[in-house]
Amino acid sequence: MRRTSVGFRDSGGRRPRFQSRRTAHFTESVIREMTRLALEARAVNLAQGFPDFPAPDFLKEAARRAIAEDLNQYTITWGAKPFRDAIAAKYARFYGLEIDPEREITVCCGATEGMIASLLAVTEPEDEIVIFEPFYENYGPDTYLAGARRRLVRLEPPDWSFDPAELRAAFNRRTKAIILNTPNNPTGKVFSREELVLIGELCQEFDALAITDEIYEHILYDGARHIPMMTLPGMRERSILVNSMSKTYSVTGWRVGWVIAAPDLTDSIRKVHDFLTVGAAAPLQYAGVAALSQPEAYYETLAADYARRRDILLEALEAAGFRYWRPRGAYYVMTDISGFGLRNDYAFVRHLIEVAGVAAVPGSSFFEDPSRGAGMVRFCFPKKYETLREAGERLKRLA
Ligand code: GLN
Repeated sequence: MRRTSVGFRDSGGRRPRFQSRRTAHFTESVIREMTRLALEARAVNLAQGFPDFPAPDFLKEAARRAIAEDLNQYTITWGAKPFRDAIAAKYARFYGLEIDPEREITVCCGATEGMIASLLAVTEPEDEIVIFEPFYENYGPDTYLAGARRRLVRLEPPDWSFDPAELRAAFNRRTKAIILNTPNNPTGKVFSREELVLIGELCQEFDALAITDEIYEHILYDGARHIPMMTLPGMRERSILVNSMSKTYSVTGWRVGWVIAAPDLTDSIRKVHDFLTVGAAAPLQYAGVAALSQPEAYYETLAADYARRRDILLEALEAAGFRYWRPRGAYYVMTDISGFGLRNDYAFVRHLIEVAGVAAVPGSSFFEDPSRGAGMVRFCFPKKYETLREAGERLKRLA
């Protein structure tokens, strides 16, 4: 491994001696690499999406209590019963979904494990997985590790819409599932009911599943609404819903997530989950009961605070000469850097770290073909207002 000025990696064509074929196709996470670079360069980290503000007091207190009460041993592998009950109750309250906590929920180590456990549970080698591009970088390695093939469908700015004909053409008899992330990382798109219905109809026509990453479900702007695919006609039995506490309750380091799916799917997912990780952190699951039982007002405040953060960042980006696509959900903004005249997104991020002291994620890490993302950079904004203002001051150095 060779390191360039700010640490971007270049393997120089060499492969480690002991490397399985299944790991040869992907590199380490660019998002997480950017966090390391930001720390090294003391840059404001608008790369990896995690809060720099405190987690809610009620939740920290609940976790302390759970540890003090000695809820410190393994829970049942698919999750502590009170936590599964709280998850089921929340989906009933918000979406009118009836979920059986005994047979349809698997608690896992974050949505990251939920996604890969689901893929490993349902795919055969050579199965195809449809993914919208740009996509959250984990879905690439996830599909490689599952041995599945990706079929990409483009989301096009400014509104990140897709061509229904292109989507239809991506489905065939080998399609096992579509991965759908709404609200979407990195684009901020929130899929509409019409779009979801269309996707659901294709799943039914081609006997495929919808694996939905709904981790940003409560982070919505400008009146956008989140609709779980599982609530649509014909999709209750065909959807695998992946979510976690990370973003909604500002505890990305807790690694507590869940997967909701019909009992036959859940049986397979639980088997994979059991042997991958046994279970998620027990006291944090018990604390999670307090989180999932929060009243409506908690989620309203969360969304309102994020709207304010978004507006601070968008204003700063505009002042610094960026063009961007306004997000309607999640906490990222994709920007168009073509006006800055740098060679590509990597060169731009390097420049951004060195000159402005702000870190972001090169757009190409969300695309299979890097050239398609070479004119884009993603900024995240789950940060204190003062962090975002500081980033805004620093971005002025780009002028
Ligand atoms: N989901 C966050 C992002 O896209 C964090 C990614 C990660 O490191 N797990 O930035």
